[in-house]
Amino acid sequence: MAQAESLEYDVLIVGGGGAGLRAAIAVYETDPKMRIAVVSKVYPMRSHTVSAEGGAAAVIKPDDSLDDHAYDTISGADWMCDQDAVEAFVNEAPEEMLQLEHWGCPWSREEDGSVAVRSFGGMKIKRTWFASDKTGFHMLHTLFQTSLQYDPIERYDEWFVTKLLVDDGRCQGVVAIEMATGRVEPILAKSVIISTGGCGKIFPFTTNANIKNGDGMSLAYRAGVPLKDMEFIQYHPTGLPFTGILITEASRSEGGHLLNKDGYRYLQDYDLGTPEAEPVLRSMELGPRDRLSQAFIKEQEKGRTLVGEYGHYVHLDIRHLGEKVINSRLPFVRELCVKYENIDPVKEMIPVRPVIHYVMGGIHTDIDAATPLPGLFSAGEAACVSINGANRLGSNSLTELLVFGARAGKSAVAFAREQGGAGASVSAQVRDEQERLSRLRSGGGSESIAGLRKEMQDTMEEGAGIYRTEASLASSAEKIQQLQERVAKVAISDSSLTFNTELTAAIELSYMLDGAEAIIHSAINRTESRGSHQRTDHPDRDDENFLKHSLAYREQGGPPRMEYHPVVITRWPPGERVYGQKKG
Ligand SMILES: Cc1cc2nc3c(=O)[nH]c(=O)nc-3n(C[C@H](O)[C@H](O)[C@H](O)COP(=O)(O)OP(=O)(O)OC[C@H]3O[C@@H](n4cnc5c(N)ncnc54)[C@H](O)[C@@H]3O)c2cc1C
Repeated sequence: MAQAESLEYDVLIVGGGGAGLRAAIAVYETDPKMRIAVVSKVYPMRSHTVSAEGGAAAVIKPDDSLDDHAYDTISGADWMCDQDAVEAFVNEAPEEMLQLEHWGCPWSREEDGSVAVRSFGGMKIKRTWFASDKTGFHMLHTLFQTSLQYDPIERYDEWFVTKLLVDDGRCQGVVAIEMATGRVEPILAKSVIISTGGCGKIFPFTTNANIKNGDGMSLAYRAGVPLKDMEFIQYHPTGLPFTGILITEASRSEGGHLLNKDGYRYLQDYDLGTPEAEPVLRSMELGPRDRLSQAFIKEQEKGRTLVGEYGHYVHLDIRHLGEKVINSRLPFVRELCVKYENIDPVKEMIPVRPVIHYVMGGIHTDIDAATPLPGLFSAGEAACVSINGANRLGSNSLTELLVFGARAGKSAVAFAREQGGAGASVSAQVRDEQERLSRLRSGGGSESIAGLRKEMQDTMEEGAGIYRTEASLASSAEKIQQLQERVAKVAISDSSLTFNTELTAAIELSYMLDGAEAIIHSAINRTESRGSHQRTDHPDRDDENFLKHSLAYREQGGPPRMEYHPVVITRWPPGERVYGQKKG
């Protein structure tokens, strides 16, 4: 840990993943005199961004256009995204990606030496840059090594944030536990950026790392900031059945097939084109993730999936690509299959099922990453700008980290320049938080963390999975409310100060329950089907009543208060999502 003389900064960034590190660099680039802190509960290179495999989208080839990238993103999002944000995103994406190359990111190349691109689900043109199938690793490494060059960026690695300090109507810093010592300290700042990533661990089967508990979303929610569009949760169609480990979409972009138990490419039955009509991008295995995951459930209902020890699954077949292509383009896929399924995809088919992958919703921000709470900004998966709407297109997220991480950094500098010192009530808030954490650590409760977490995950999958109904959601809402009460009595048997992971697990559980509450209530109130939010009791999209963002505001001891916010339409009026055909 780099120790400052006093824990007081101009800009404090919570999160050392792609969005957080890009934001930190942007703060330095905008004003090298800013004092910058990056706080992360894990060493930055262990952030989830490191595990991204497939790639990052940005227009680079002459046959592509910014409007095409925007249109694919908007139709993929089922028109739930803000089109001004999407336009900013596609415009700034190529420059950000080239910048990353100049900082050392080893993008894979075409034979002629130009940047290579691959196709990705829901994109009608190949525009996904990649670094083999370890794109996130290389991007995060590049950002991390770049951030190391700038002395004003100080790091608090393995510090766990538990509270935002809000005084005088603005965010003024955080309280965090130094995990190695158990010390609970305030870190004050004029601007705070939350880039804590997603919350996939609210569900039982997920590609997400254990650290993805929606911490930052909950911190903002508790400080009165609304969570936007939380009902939109993405299932990725190809995860390994037991572990949920991701088999990247790149395996389908390289030519992999999804087969049901009869060896049939079943996606041709779901308005996603036909094998004969190939090669057409946005078709069959390269359709959008919501449609592919929904098709899996329909196959299951028809009795055409396979059943194994861990439930229903289908096959992903990449054998026909051959060992050479698999080794050069998909080496990590091969490694994961061998290590975790004991199968070699060069010779055998890969069992896959839909798994929770990404949350489209998050902390409500404007196009410049500002939340409604002055001094608080957010970027990355924790935020909802929104460019992902009701369904994110694969490979847009990594680029989003760069574009909106940079925007958050610039906005945070502009705000910090205008501010004076910390407000009067901050030290009382710090004392209260120190006492709360000390009480929690001294135990006394009877509820098991693992038990409550399992109950939460099970009820979320049952009630708010790929298909939802009023009844399923209402039953999960009741369960989550009970769990909210029970979590107050959680038992912590480890009272030590050094790396007390039981304590942090208990806090993470309470964060996840906040996220679960926002997901369920946003979903109950959206009585339509759109993108990843499919209500069997309201099967149609309803633009008249629901072309609007959900905003969930926390209410003490009860369900959140729901409000709505207009969707920004600039140039693309709501239309039909068409896949499997060439789009004019
Ligand atoms: C397996 C996998 C593969 C993916 N592949 C792709 C892909 O190919 N293309 C694509 O576009 N997207 C992909 N995604 C999605 C994308 O990787 C993520 O959305 C993105 O990396 C999130 O980055 P982030 O910076 O927002 O958060 P993260 O990288 O998750 O970082 C969060 C940071 O916040 C910190 N933090 C969290 N809570 C606290 C706390 N309480 N106190 C202090 N610090 C805290 C963590 O320590 C961490 O540093 C993939 C996701 C997964 C799971």
